[in-house]
Amino acid sequence: MKNITILGSTGSIGTQALDVIRKNRKDFNVSALTTNSNIKILYDQVLEFNPDIVVIVDYNKYKEFKTMISNKDIKTQILFGEEGLIEAAIYDKADIILSSIVGIAGLKPTFEAVKKGKTIALANKETMVTAGRIITEMAKESNSTIIPVDSEHSAIFQCIGKERKYVSRIILTASGGPFRNKTLQELKSVTVSDALKHPNWNMGKKITVDSATLMNKGLEVIEARWLFDIESEYIDVIIHPESIIHSMVEFIDGVILAQLGIPDMRIPIKYSFTYPERTLGYVARLDFSKIKNLNFETPDVVRFPCLKLAYDALKSGDSSCIVLNGANEVAVNLFLQGKIGFTDIYYIVAGVLEKHINVEIKSIEDVLEIDNWARKIAYELYNKR
Ligand code: NAD
Ligand code: MG
Repeated sequence: MKNITILGSTGSIGTQALDVIRKNRKDFNVSALTTNSNIKILYDQVLEFNPDIVVIVDYNKYKEFKTMISNKDIKTQILFGEEGLIEAAIYDKADIILSSIVGIAGLKPTFEAVKKGKTIALANKETMVTAGRIITEMAKESNSTIIPVDSEHSAIFQCIGKERKYVSRIILTASGGPFRNKTLQELKSVTVSDALKHPNWNMGKKITVDSATLMNKGLEVIEARWLFDIESEYIDVIIHPESIIHSMVEFIDGVILAQLGIPDMRIPIKYSFTYPERTLGYVARLDFSKIKNLNFETPDVVRFPCLKLAYDALKSGDSSCIVLNGANEVAVNLFLQGKIGFTDIYYIVAGVLEKHINVEIKSIEDVLEIDNWARKIAYELYNKR
């Protein structure tokens, strides 16, 4: 029996992880659950999974939740704020910490869990994008294992197995998102609801917009850089609209291994929980007789320049990756609020990066300081428009 803590249990990854646990109650137990403010979903989760700890980051929602649940006979300890998140992240009884908060908000608790030597199931890619070097160094020191949940990185992790020393190239696949066939002119007038219609995956809003700009793939290139200790010139991106091949690894002898399956995040989530074992999966199976074609295209960085921004940031240095991420979080939020157009996301992120001079990053505090700066400049650029 493994005890699992889910940081961000009310989101897309969090709720799918609980579905995995629901279908495998003999193998998994829930030790802690956290949300930013979604107490309605959390309430049902607490009654169903009976965790030792729950955390509501928002203080008013925390107070509301306490009232809501006061007539229930539960043993769950209810905490709030960032301190609560960290307490959940380092909770002694948890074997695996699923890091599935969205954005850099997931960084601190994930770092603390790594420092504690926990096994991390990592969905929160922003942690690796902003602090990959610090996190991987800390993991070595503390003996923490990081198992990727992001479908591409789970695929790569599985393809590499014990053959890391023979890897020559990583090939990340990308669906291309909802705007794959749009012209640059058309992209200028796409709406928020267009951007939220992803062809193959049902995900949180931020990553869905990132998938539409291809920034998601850029963030994943940086994530792969740190997860697999490989330089960016050996990481390729290929558009594969069917999302059947989740990614590939090329070895020095020219052999390529790929991991395939239907697009369902419960597969990599469960793998991260059962690793190094595999257990019976309750998901649909791939039927090759129904797959007519697997297609591949080179990504177009003229229409989707965010992908190139990410490669450039990686080359330029650690602090540029923090700036890329922070400015992108602000720009995506502005887009979701209807305040900027789709193509403005790129201009804001590029504009903030242009003003940034790379600095050395030594600690999580340094990361958060640069992140704050990037957010401030992103809002300034928006206000000046
Ligand atoms: P989501 O928006 O659906 O859920 C986010 C979760 O984080 C929620 O539980 C929310 O309460 C919590 N949260 C949000 N802001 C917070 C804050 N400031 N402090 C504490 N908690 C906060 O997001 P998601 O789609 O589940 O994505 C989560 C992470 O997993 C992201 O980093 C994303 O890139 C990554 N990921 C998601 C998918 C997917 O299919 N959804 C696939 C691969 C990777
Ligand atoms: Mg992915």
